Amino acid sequence: MNVCEVDCGAFINRMNDGYFAMRYLPFRLTGNIYRGCTHGCVYCYAACTHYYMNASPNDFSKNIFVKINSPEIFQKELKKYDDVKKKKSVLIIGNISDVYQPIEMKYRLTRKILQLCLEYHFPCFIETKSPLVLEDLDLIKGLANQNLIGIGMTVTSYNNEFTKLIEPFIGKHNLIHSEIYQKERISTLKVLSSIGADTYLHITPYFPEMTDRDIEKIISDASDAKIGNVIMAPLELSPYIWNRFSKVLEDNGKFNEIISIYKNLYFNQGRRLGARITTSENHHYHLEEKVSLLCKKYGIGYWAFTNPQFNTDKASGAYRLRYPILLDYWNYAKRNGEIRYKDAIDLANNFPIDNKYIKTFKEYWNSGKLFEGIYGIKKVTIENETYYIYGENTDNLINKDKF
Ligand code: SF4
Repeated sequence: MNVCEVDCGAFINRMNDGYFAMRYLPFRLTGNIYRGCTHGCVYCYAACTHYYMNASPNDFSKNIFVKINSPEIFQKELKKYDDVKKKKSVLIIGNISDVYQPIEMKYRLTRKILQLCLEYHFPCFIETKSPLVLEDLDLIKGLANQNLIGIGMTVTSYNNEFTKLIEPFIGKHNLIHSEIYQKERISTLKVLSSIGADTYLHITPYFPEMTDRDIEKIISDASDAKIGNVIMAPLELSPYIWNRFSKVLEDNGKFNEIISIYKNLYFNQGRRLGARITTSENHHYHLEEKVSLLCKKYGIGYWAFTNPQFNTDKASGAYRLRYPILLDYWNYAKRNGEIRYKDAIDLANNFPIDNKYIKTFKEYWNSGKLFEGIYGIKKVTIENETYYIYGENTDNLINKDKF
């Protein structure tokens, strides 16, 4: 592993309000302490961001850039938020590189960032695959007491042979003395839930067939651990990810049937999603339905992003200070039979949005992209006013035949 210490000019990044963000992303602010991640997951969507560091995606788990001055820069940015009364909205820490990869135990930059979040009462969300998050339990508890933190961990399979192939390096560094199996992440989230942190089980990516085998047990374990909510998204494949994923399975030789299933699901029946491909809308629909029903059965919240009718989330913690998503507008339309632009803006103003959001929202509203293909919603334009009505008979979803 090569470690390269770099200075950053900014820590907080304000994401663009693209199609995906406007519909599904409850956050806009991100901050990455590390670029590159030694966990080495073969399905990593972030590896390609190494191009921005003039490095190859193949070196994402080997060349780690450490933003050594990130706490100082973050502190200056936080002061601006306090001075100009910018609205505080949840900051996702480490969305493209795990902030609790073992190198954190040397630098403790994540700890310093959390200390600042606590000092400035800034809401934050951490996504990690490592139990090293428990090293900062004291700070997490302080933030949780003020409803200022959410933590998500990924669990996709209890098949240890499979997970060792797809997440080859998690737990193999000196700083963690045992291999970390996915089941142990539920125990980690259990500890975090027990101190009042807002916790999320990320079934992301959902591996068709492999996750199917364990999904009920995973959700029932998550419920026993008192994890707050489940989030699910099926695996997406780029040529780069498919090559890595299929190669580790082929080399292992015990998962050949998975390769054939995926060729059919993705390359014959799948669809394009930006630069990647995913499974068909029909497949996604039935996955969301299945996960939602299991979450209901075991009494745990489910954030259904693409098919809002399956949502059972329990919004809480740092995500109280999130951006609105189409689910919020859909719920309003369902409750009231329709939603007009003024209603939508009044609703959006309950969230910590900025002017940039409102400007882009108008475009999405008028073009119909906000609700495109969404269950129960129909676009109406009368005398230059565009609004949306809700009704069971306006279901414009793809066919719902069992997949
Ligand atoms: S933990 Fe996340 S960032 Fe790190 S390799 Fe895995 S998927 Fe990529």
